[in-house]
Amino acid sequence: MAELALARFVPPAASGRRLPGLPGAAAVRRAVTRLDRPGPHGSAADVTTLPEALRRFLAHPRPPVLLGAVGAVAAVRYVRGPLRRRDAVTAAACLGAQPFVEWAVHRCLLHAQPGGALGSIGYQLAGYGHEQHHRDPTNLDTMFLRPREVTAGAAAAVAVAALAPPTAGTVAVCLGLGALAYDWTHFLIHTSIRPSSRYYRRVWRGHRLHHYRNEGYWLGVTSPVADLVLGTAPGRDEVPVSPTATGAISRGAARRAPRPAPVPPHSLARPA
Ligand SMILES: [Zn+2]
Ligand SMILES: [Zn+2]
Repeated sequence: MAELALARFVPPAASGRRLPGLPGAAAVRRAVTRLDRPGPHGSAADVTTLPEALRRFLAHPRPPVLLGAVGAVAAVRYVRGPLRRRDAVTAAACLGAQPFVEWAVHRCLLHAQPGGALGSIGYQLAGYGHEQHHRDPTNLDTMFLRPREVTAGAAAAVAVAALAPPTAGTVAVCLGLGALAYDWTHFLIHTSIRPSSRYYRRVWRGHRLHHYRNEGYWLGVTSPVADLVLGTAPGRDEVPVSPTATGAISRGAARRAPRPAPVPPHSLARPA
């Protein structure tokens, strides 16, 4: 049944279906489809140097969309007036909040499961895509933030930067920079580049444990601070290998609980 549902699933961006109720939705859909060219885009494991990582990051269709979105929000904030002391204070607060925002998004949105209204919405928005990433962590087809979510978020952020008080625009820019830092760091962690600094080794090791040990822990990607504060950074052997950890089945750690196939968002809207 799951295979049948998966075969029927066509991402909305490529399905040709209209987005109901939105004027110009067809044009937006066509533009997003062009932005999000299908793969295969290769494997992050093939990347062994920093210049190569930067080249692959910029050559992939998805990250430049995020770069453009952050640039657009920053440009709108710029025309609203010069940065003042309150903007510096706001940016510092955003920097302090970033690990916790990232932790919460990873735990509540990226790992949302179907079941219940909020879980199903989260799963459709981001959980399904992140589940694909967990099933094949180095696959560049499912590595980066998707253009349809990025453009939707950017539209909201541009509106905030244009219409709300300038400080709110500064917050929007900081959120965009946080997403960019996440996308780049996350990609880098999945390459074959070995960590060369103590800080980066810490987040590198944490994210690999998140994938290969237990997805309920080590939820920070750009920073370990939230995991340390919120108690999700245990020692490696203090938590069991989860049944759904990448490679757990092949290691024989979960033979009695094989990983279920993901439920595509389409089947949530239309029960099989
Ligand atoms: Zn990952
Ligand atoms: Zn995850």
